[in-house]
Amino acid sequence: MKKKVHFFQSVNFKIALSFILLLLIAIQIIGGYFIRELESTTINDYKQNVDSQTTQLASTIGTKLVEKNQDRTEIDASLKKTLNDFAGSETIEARIVDDKGIVRATSDLNRQGIVGKKNDYRDLNDFSAKKYAAMDQDKRVYINVMPIQSPTGDTVIGVLYVKSNIEGKYQEITGTARIFFTASLIAGAISIIVTLLIARSITQPIGEMREQALRIAKGDYTGKVQVYGKDELGQLAETFNQLSERIEEAQETMEAERNRLDSVLAHMTDGVIATDRRGKVITINEMALSLLNVKDEDVIGSSLLELLDIETDYTLRKLLEEPEEILIDLSTSPEDQMIIRVDFAMIRRESGFITGLVCVLHDVTEQEKNERERREFVSNVSHELRTPLTSMRSYIEALSEGAWENPEIAPNFLNVTLEETDRMIRMINDLLNLSRMDSGNNELQLEYVNFNELINFVLDRFDMMVESTDKNYSIQREFTKRDLWVELDTDKIIQVLDNILNNAIKYSPDGGAITCRLLETHNNVVFSVTDQGLGIPKKDLNKVFDRFYRVDKARARAQGGTGLGLAISREVIKAHNGAIWVESQEGQGSTFYISLPYEPYEEDWWE
Ligand code: ADP
Repeated sequence: MKKKVHFFQSVNFKIALSFILLLLIAIQIIGGYFIRELESTTINDYKQNVDSQTTQLASTIGTKLVEKNQDRTEIDASLKKTLNDFAGSETIEARIVDDKGIVRATSDLNRQGIVGKKNDYRDLNDFSAKKYAAMDQDKRVYINVMPIQSPTGDTVIGVLYVKSNIEGKYQEITGTARIFFTASLIAGAISIIVTLLIARSITQPIGEMREQALRIAKGDYTGKVQVYGKDELGQLAETFNQLSERIEEAQETMEAERNRLDSVLAHMTDGVIATDRRGKVITINEMALSLLNVKDEDVIGSSLLELLDIETDYTLRKLLEEPEEILIDLSTSPEDQMIIRVDFAMIRRESGFITGLVCVLHDVTEQEKNERERREFVSNVSHELRTPLTSMRSYIEALSEGAWENPEIAPNFLNVTLEETDRMIRMINDLLNLSRMDSGNNELQLEYVNFNELINFVLDRFDMMVESTDKNYSIQREFTKRDLWVELDTDKIIQVLDNILNNAIKYSPDGGAITCRLLETHNNVVFSVTDQGLGIPKKDLNKVFDRFYRVDKARARAQGGTGLGLAISREVIKAHNGAIWVESQEGQGSTFYISLPYEPYEEDWWE
């Protein structure tokens, strides 16, 4: 994330470079101008100086050259002296040539041989004035040729030649230029350092702000940018610090908001799933995970439609366009049922742009099961009532069509009608009982009862009934010796016992022994009734306690059964916090068990 800025790309370098370039340009312009001026002034001054001295010398020589009272040798000696006096350190040679072209004197010691001989410098041949610079053995020299006028000034009587060395002047200038150059270099070096320092003072705060910005991006708000001064950068640094505080506050608010949302989601009893606009899961709460039986890491990023297994019936577009509620059945087996209601809603921005979908999962298994049972129950009741009514109607029809006059069949028909009416009344009573228990209106009248006595009382009644029926059964009692005091609703428990014993007799066509056992376990009393009758097929074992469920409908109805007896029994035992169940082998008989909660020490307490 953090990229190192190359030095040559840095602001530091750019500022320093521009400063130095500016400086160099300034030095160049100033230096060039200065050196040119220096050169022209120095050289011109020098030349002028030489010129004026030469002119003066020429006039001195003019007088000496025509001296009347001296012979030629004397004149030449005097000329030589004049030239020697004249020649300074920079004079290479001063030479006098007379109007006959004879060299009269020279200041050059090495050329004294030429004196008195013909001049050998071509420059002097035409006796005209000349000034020019030239090169002599790699040296710059200045040559000045000056005609010598007679003292009267009307004739040219000779020529003066002066060759001076100006290399020295040029070297002076070069020396000065060198000093200038060195000074510029030093100035340049110093300015580089100063510029770098200045540039650093600008870029360092910027660099620090960048570091801080990077830290903020990583979520670390602890740092502060140092404020170096009150200038623009200082203000920027202050603003930056304020900004970072604001971001921190905003971040904290957001964090708190998110935590709140998370805890709301986590503690919701409904499952919640949120997706992005492509239908990929981005959030899912615990409840949704447990309802769908999936793991967080497996579903984040996966498709919602696949997760809910509805991709064949729904498209994401359809859900987005008309979010509705749907029911999905996640049942794995009839025992392990799971029905979930899913409500969809869109997540929209203020602009209306759809950013995703929220779906709320609600477990409606119980609700759906109750609803289904209610529907089945209503249809069962209607069916059960229609059957006796239809048969009654046909008997009454037969009677009204004349059968009432037939003493042979009329009483029989009336009897059947009466039996059917009784059965309907029993059924309606049973239904009312059940409905009272369902709505919780039927409170138990609990009392402590000697359970052994209660059962004996019921069984005694059945023993008495043996004589009045044609069924050949006998009741055996196998009871514990101890009296068991149980808290129960006597009437309701008698109803249950009656029902179970009635069934044992009813579904044992050949009679046989009916064994009733009473025993106690650690904190239950268990009463069981074993018959030697038809038994119940394995597949029906669990269902016999369901409302209207009968293994053999025709036979049960013929026995006058309503199919509600065991259902009522189950409700009664449930209300006592007990349990009722059956074990059976088809064709060999069944055993019905009732277990009721029991506190064994109650007996001692009574005593
Ligand atoms: P019903 O009025 O038909 O007897 P119940 O609820 O008492 O209704 O019993 C439900 C069904 O359970 C009966 O129809 C019968 O098929 C079966 N059943 C109950 N008790 C016995 C038993 N002792 N032996 C065999 N089948 C039984």
